[in-house]
Amino acid sequence: MNFLRLYGRVLGQLGPDGRVGIVLALANLALALAQFAEPVLFGRVINVLAGTEEHAGKLDWESLWLLLIAWVCFGLFTIIGGTLVALFADRLAHRRRLAVLTRYFEHVLQLPLAYHGGTHSGRLIKVMLQGTDALWAFWLGFFREHLAAFMSLLILVPLTLIINWRLAILLIVLCILFAILAALVLRKTESLQSMVQAHHSNLAERAADALGNVALVQSFARVESEVKALKSVSERLLAAQFPVLSWWAVVTVLTRASTTLTVLAIVLVGTWLFQYGLISIGDIVTFMALAGMVIVRLDQAISFANRMALDMERLREFFNVLDTAPAMRDRPGAIDPGRCRGKVEFDNVSFAYDGARPAVSNLSFTVHPGEMVALVGPTGAGKSTALMLLHRAFDPQSGVIRIDDIDIRDMQLAALRRNIGVVFQDTLLFNRSVAENLRVGKPEATDEQLREAAARAQALDFIEYNVEGFDAKVGERGRLLSGGERQRLSIARALLKDPPILILDEATSALDAVTETRVLAALDEVMKNRTTFVIAHRFSTVRKANRILVFDRGRIVESGTFEELQRLNGRFAQLTKGQFMPAGV
Ligand code: ADP
Repeated sequence: MNFLRLYGRVLGQLGPDGRVGIVLALANLALALAQFAEPVLFGRVINVLAGTEEHAGKLDWESLWLLLIAWVCFGLFTIIGGTLVALFADRLAHRRRLAVLTRYFEHVLQLPLAYHGGTHSGRLIKVMLQGTDALWAFWLGFFREHLAAFMSLLILVPLTLIINWRLAILLIVLCILFAILAALVLRKTESLQSMVQAHHSNLAERAADALGNVALVQSFARVESEVKALKSVSERLLAAQFPVLSWWAVVTVLTRASTTLTVLAIVLVGTWLFQYGLISIGDIVTFMALAGMVIVRLDQAISFANRMALDMERLREFFNVLDTAPAMRDRPGAIDPGRCRGKVEFDNVSFAYDGARPAVSNLSFTVHPGEMVALVGPTGAGKSTALMLLHRAFDPQSGVIRIDDIDIRDMQLAALRRNIGVVFQDTLLFNRSVAENLRVGKPEATDEQLREAAARAQALDFIEYNVEGFDAKVGERGRLLSGGERQRLSIARALLKDPPILILDEATSALDAVTETRVLAALDEVMKNRTTFVIAHRFSTVRKANRILVFDRGRIVESGTFEELQRLNGRFAQLTKGQFMPAGV
């Protein structure tokens, strides 16, 4: 994305505030015009005073008064107008910053899980905060300074030409020289700054990664080495940042030097012109004041461009995330089937993550409402993938999945997911209270319903053991709870959601005997009266299943009841004997 396109894109983000933006732009134009009145009036006053001698020492009071009144009016207009513009620009920038931040958040939450798998959450948060900060600074700078600076420069050229074309040409040439030099330096810093930005991203990612795994860092006594690694990233960042700072110093020197040089040049050339009667003293004074203003404006425009160059990478990263296509969108005309009965049909379904090597191929089976199906097979056989397709984490490349005889792609995504509950093996919990985590399943649930679900999921006793009860925080990712407690909370959450179809990933990690009994009891409770798919690791679960699907390398190689499969003495029988599912576990 080049500079101008990015510029347009940033202004485009003003969205519904575009109109306020236009009013601010017009106000800026008026202010820029009014600001130039001051040096012009100043010059005129000097001319009136200088003319006194010619008029035999009599001061032209009438002209002087008029000029002074006009000066006061313009001054007042500039002060009041400037304050109003600043105030509205501030509000506009803050309002839009939060609106864009919310939109980014919503967008990122809808991005495919595969995207999140490959992009660290620390990086996404950094991009969100830095990107919206850059937008905020841009809008503020644009409406408070940059636009005014640009307008001023635009007005300056004809104005100076009208006053005295000779001095005008001198001023314009000096400004162009200054602008070219500054632009060259800026271009240099831009490429250097993008390297700095990459280091910033690394820094955020590393820090977030370590903070997200504090337990690991501490248990392996890795604090020192993590800090050392962060330090080395910081050092590389600093090494990349210093040259940029030096180039910026060059810009500051350039600005100061050009102000002095320009004023000096105007005095010298002005005096020379005065000798030949080609300019009045007032006009020289006007030019000196104008030159000062123009340099200040140019400096503003350049530091704004500087800021833009600095933020370019941040904005680019920000827009790249915004441009990533969300995982799934509803088809036009997608329906809401209400509460489904729970018939599930896979019809020749194939899917490959990379589009080439299939993770599942030609899956075909039908499950009737209320049945419990166990999916078994070695790791990597495609069990999770098959179930991810069912709740449309991905869409299959070929084949159709139907629920109650409706292609799930014809259903509204939210409606489909309302009908399917998922109990993850790696229990996902927000760093909020127990009650809030449970209400994810049913936002309108009453306290009584929460208690009932917790009791059915065997979770009530440990919740109430804590004095804060349902208001107790569970910690980041539920770290304040044990593995078994987290699982029971997530089962209670699924019970509250009460979906007709349930996907369960049975825990592989060993629980102590008492906890295991309680978790299994909770699972029995949650599976009642729903179509349930269990990725089974326990012998007892498989025994209870109405049907078992045996997966191997992405295919269903056997299917039937426990007895049927045992009799078959094939892959399933091998699994129950072998290491994947030792009998009795
Ligand atoms: P299972 O649940 O039986 O252990 P999976 O469905 O997780 O098996 O995996 C099936 C295949 O798909 C494996 O080869 C695995 O490496 C691959 N796979 C799983 N998840 C992803 C992913 N997010 N991106 C790419 N490949 C994946």
